[in-house]
Amino acid sequence: MPATELEQIVSLCKRRGFVYQSAEIYGGFRSTYDYGPLGSLLLRNVKEAWVRAVVQQRDDVVLIDAAVLSPPQVWQASGHLANFSDPLVDCTNCKQRFRLDKLDDPDLCPNCGERNSFTEPREFNLMFKTQAGPVEGSGADAYLRPETAQGMFTNFGQVLQTSRKKPPFGIAQVGKSFRNEITPQNWIFRTREFDQMELEFFVPPADSDQWYDYWCKARMDWYTDLGIPNDMLRLRPHDDDELSHYSTGTADIEFAFPWGFDELEGIAQRSDYDLKQHAEHSGEKLDYFDPQTNERWVPYVIEPAAGATRTMAAFLLAAYDEDIINDETRTVLRLHPRLAPYKVAVLPLSKKDTLTPLAHEVRKLLADRYMVDYDETQNIGKRYRRQDEIGTPLAVTVDFDSLDDNAVTIRDRDTTDQVRMPIDELLATIGDRLGF
Ligand code: ATP
Repeated sequence: MPATELEQIVSLCKRRGFVYQSAEIYGGFRSTYDYGPLGSLLLRNVKEAWVRAVVQQRDDVVLIDAAVLSPPQVWQASGHLANFSDPLVDCTNCKQRFRLDKLDDPDLCPNCGERNSFTEPREFNLMFKTQAGPVEGSGADAYLRPETAQGMFTNFGQVLQTSRKKPPFGIAQVGKSFRNEITPQNWIFRTREFDQMELEFFVPPADSDQWYDYWCKARMDWYTDLGIPNDMLRLRPHDDDELSHYSTGTADIEFAFPWGFDELEGIAQRSDYDLKQHAEHSGEKLDYFDPQTNERWVPYVIEPAAGATRTMAAFLLAAYDEDIINDETRTVLRLHPRLAPYKVAVLPLSKKDTLTPLAHEVRKLLADRYMVDYDETQNIGKRYRRQDEIGTPLAVTVDFDSLDDNAVTIRDRDTTDQVRMPIDELLATIGDRLGF
């Protein structure tokens, strides 16, 4: 059974060192989180799994890493300066502020219950503005990017020249984005600073529909291949009134969060809007010259845009399980091995000096290839439980017999089955079991 309450995961993550409230020693900074020893590994694995599927396993996508700070011209061209805003209303009774588009009833204050107490909506731009250099003034304005996507458009020409790719091809990026969200909420689901994983896939205009269908399916498969059950996911096509004026189709991949289905990723057909906007504002040509037909054209774009931190929450919720082992309830994170923070735990049966050197030899052997946890405190049962709870797929136990027979025991997180095997065969067996 996946977690039904967000609190189950939030408390596990705090207890085990996945996610902490940021600046907690100062009372915490609202809506920002720090990823601890386990969370930083999990988040990295989510991003690596995305890069593996979207870049590494293909021959038509390249990766970039663009700057977080950018000048106003970029956001002028993209439309974010004018339009990247939410409508805000204030309750004149309790003085609380709300996003109009997120209210269940646009006339009812969810805080104090007053009716018709809202002010007229005002648009609030979500970008964080800062200043570059020591002199204040409009020439020094800079913005923290609210999405990674513009980096792919502004670098389109350079990537086209240097990468030897031609449409259909994609430019991918993983990195931090910032939005001054008015109502950050639901733990790491909506925060002001978050990680995105975005792909801009450039295609001949006539093939846009076909590539859109292709990416909707490929992206859904990514989540299920990594262990999210089918019934916890859905692809929700946008209604006409949700579509941007340049989009001919957008769908959200939604996950069954404890509060209902909510967005993990948006997949949009963006036509040639972004490249044309940047070409117009910068004066640079952002198009493709086809040497075969001697024609110049502006590619259309399919954009699968996912959030890494939000997706991490979904993977944790889906992986959470409780079962009964030897009459005791245990909590287990059934994370896909690619996502699990540690792939293997090395657990010497006792802390005795006689066992430690061999246990460390085994740890070193495995750590060359995998992220390994080493733990020698507490009784072995408790240590297994801890590894179950942090999602480690395999545990290797070194015991006193190991000193004579050079063999160890491997325990499986999901079944708790144990098998003994020679240390010589350990790497090959673990590779088979994990699938890499
Ligand atoms: P929402 O409607 O939830 O605010 P959005 O439609 O504005 O999201 P996009 O601009 O399409 O989101 O961004 C792509 C992805 O980036 C989202 O699907 C989500 O996974 C992630 N994302 C966006 N805003 C946040 C946020 N404040 N915190 C965490 N992840 C976010």
